[in-house]
Amino acid sequence: MQTSATPTPSAHKHTPRRRPHAMELPTPITFAANASWTCTTCGVPHRFTNTSFARPLGRLKCPLCSAVANFNLPLTNTNLAILDGNQYSVSVPPGSRDKPLTVFGWVCCSCGRSHQRIPHAIERPATPPPRFRDRILKAYHKTIHGGDFEYDSVTSIHDYGSSLPERKGFRVAFDRPCSCEHATCELCYRFKVVGEGEWIAATGAVGVFPSNRT
Ligand SMILES: [Zn+2]
Ligand SMILES: [Zn+2]
Ligand SMILES: [Zn+2]
Repeated sequence: MQTSATPTPSAHKHTPRRRPHAMELPTPITFAANASWTCTTCGVPHRFTNTSFARPLGRLKCPLCSAVANFNLPLTNTNLAILDGNQYSVSVPPGSRDKPLTVFGWVCCSCGRSHQRIPHAIERPATPPPRFRDRILKAYHKTIHGGDFEYDSVTSIHDYGSSLPERKGFRVAFDRPCSCEHATCELCYRFKVVGEGEWIAATGAVGVFPSNRT
């Protein structure tokens, strides 16, 4: 009889819970020693404490007055940049980097927990883009009508097209609710910390959230 409790992936598709170890891994954000956020209700600055991979800024709930941070978040000595969209694309420079260094996250305006949103690679189409297909076909016809069929010239053009130094594309969306079940809204503080050489573009409607569409 099998006693192993190894779950099958399909049996747990419905579990939206985060993996526990994300609370033990360090935050991807580097904080200066004097970095702080200021409570807008009582005006007292606080350090970023209890940060982790899952809670990149910790929990931004004022320990003095219990107010929770929102989009109007005064920050001191951080490299966080505020975002007002709900979906972004990230372009990574050609090279060995296989995932963005840019960090995306948000702070729940209901409970103050901070969250990371991890960009996912945009799948490249299975067939070459039309302009490459056209060039392949042109090369094919040229060699056919020129008499000699040079298969190599056809494949080399295809290879040339697919080996161009391309920037890899990723996409990220603020589409996951907090563990308190609050979905990202326009009052939540959304942020990025841009990785070197990476381009960020808003791809969704800025300031529009599914909860707004009634
Ligand atoms: Zn306060
Ligand atoms: Zn929350
Ligand atoms: Zn909110």
